[in-house]
Amino acid sequence: MDTPYKISKIGDGFWAIDERGVFMYLIEGTDEAMLVDTGFGGGDLKALAESLTKKPLFAVITHADPDHIGACGQFSEVFMHPSDFDRYYEKSENKIKLRPVWEGGVFDLGGRKFEVVHIPGHTPGSIALFDKANRLVISGDSFQYGGIFMFGGGRNFRAFEASVNRMLKIKDGISEIYPGHDRYPVGSAIFEDLLDGLRILETGSVEGKDTGRPIPAKLYECGKVKFIVGSQTT
Ligand SMILES: [Zn+2]
Repeated sequence: MDTPYKISKIGDGFWAIDERGVFMYLIEGTDEAMLVDTGFGGGDLKALAESLTKKPLFAVITHADPDHIGACGQFSEVFMHPSDFDRYYEKSENKIKLRPVWEGGVFDLGGRKFEVVHIPGHTPGSIALFDKANRLVISGDSFQYGGIFMFGGGRNFRAFEASVNRMLKIKDGISEIYPGHDRYPVGSAIFEDLLDGLRILETGSVEGKDTGRPIPAKLYECGKVKFIVGSQTT
């Protein structure tokens, strides 16, 4: 059967699942396994994850955009920051139970822990998952070298900048960042690159390029990073 999923083993008990350019991550501890994001929902993601790990599986959502919540209906519940609950119910027909995650909350998988870091901006309830012991962050779409979508309701550049600044303060504890798009892992230099990019975007000197999508937004290449922004706002 055709599957939209490409699986890459990153390390022991750590996989990336690529669905048409959206990266999901599956991490297995000694007690439980955590799936981060559910993609577009183009296949049986839960069955796929359960073929990779035999541990009890739960799903956490980095943010409630359609390319990250598509297969949530395959789970009876998913974890998400409450600031994205409304966004989820607006964009998904799967009215499943949403369980809140909070800043500082910890998913302890057994031998491997991920702390919730609230990073609003891309969406109000965007979160990163920080494995301090392994110096690793799963960042969703907020920190990546692909075009960061900042067009439409709920996007907030000021909050985004504050979130980047907050990460900059802890960057010495981070070696690898696993984003939702473009490529992985990326290094913690991305936080400086994002701040530089924001400054460049602010100057208004960058010519927007066609996104190839039917939306009134353009892609702005700002130094090493890219933002997709409504063409009328710059
Ligand atoms: Zn995305």
